[in-house]
Amino acid sequence: MRTKCFYCNRPSIVYLRYANLRLCEKHFVKFVEDRVRKTIERYKMIKENDRVLIAVSGGKDSIVLLNILKNISNEYSFSVYGFTIDLGIKRYNKYVEIAEKCFRDAGIKYIVYSLEKEHGFTLDDVVEKVKTRKPCSVCGMIKRYILNKYAYEHGFNKIATGHNLDDITALQLLHLLRGNLEGLKKLVPVLEGRGKLITRIRPLIEVYEKDIELYSKIKGFDVVKEKCPYYIGAKTLFYKDILETIERKSPSSKIVFFRTVISKIIPMITTGNEEAGSLKTCRICGMPSSRDVCSFCRLKLKMKE
Ligand code: SF4
Ligand code: ZN
Ligand code: ZN
Repeated sequence: MRTKCFYCNRPSIVYLRYANLRLCEKHFVKFVEDRVRKTIERYKMIKENDRVLIAVSGGKDSIVLLNILKNISNEYSFSVYGFTIDLGIKRYNKYVEIAEKCFRDAGIKYIVYSLEKEHGFTLDDVVEKVKTRKPCSVCGMIKRYILNKYAYEHGFNKIATGHNLDDITALQLLHLLRGNLEGLKKLVPVLEGRGKLITRIRPLIEVYEKDIELYSKIKGFDVVKEKCPYYIGAKTLFYKDILETIERKSPSSKIVFFRTVISKIIPMITTGNEEAGSLKTCRICGMPSSRDVCSFCRLKLKMKE
């Protein structure tokens, strides 16, 4: 059996079945970074002089994303800035330190945005008060709102997040099976912004989760290990397992599925005037909203009751 790297004589440390490649450590790192470069180019994610705000949660995906984008930012002449939100979860705050360390190690400017300092409440307070929504659902809304508003107010024209191929294909399968076409349309490499909605990009969208894990291990990144106390298990886990089983039998199925969805299915169901006219302006904060008052401002009002 061939155990040498495809590109050099060093012993291989990994076999990528979907690409039929055995690679040594050095060439594996290059392979992952090139995959991100190609994704950025294929989907025209970043232009010269873009100001990219990177959302970092302390998990492996966002830390790998931050480091790769920082390393290639000179090549493509864009600037990167790290952003993490301190949600104020008592039993889960190590991720903030980890994110800060990662920003310092990568040598990039960053901001730690404290929900409590800026708005007077923590996620723990929200969970205590709001019983009608699951913590992750409110938390997701808070993070999206803050990230977008911060980017808009500070002149960033792109927000980068660390979704990987496994996350996205699992969600695509789930939405397809539930007939949720509106949800499906959002699972694309670039979610174009308009008005005060900043464009979102997903540079790791064609990178397998296992490759991100291995890349992070090789680089020795410190990533958050403990789980948030409100984590109840991603609903996509089951769909990830199904796709993994298919991938094992038929390597590269995930990437083929992903590209088929985004290049064939989504264009077929896209009319071009998605949400046209449905976005209003929140009368409290002035940010885009589907209702008179946006979800975040409604939450703030509730927290004051
Ligand atoms: Fe927020 Fe849920 Fe993630 Fe905890 S697990 S940080 S509540 S999204
Ligand atoms: Zn090699
Ligand atoms: Zn608002």
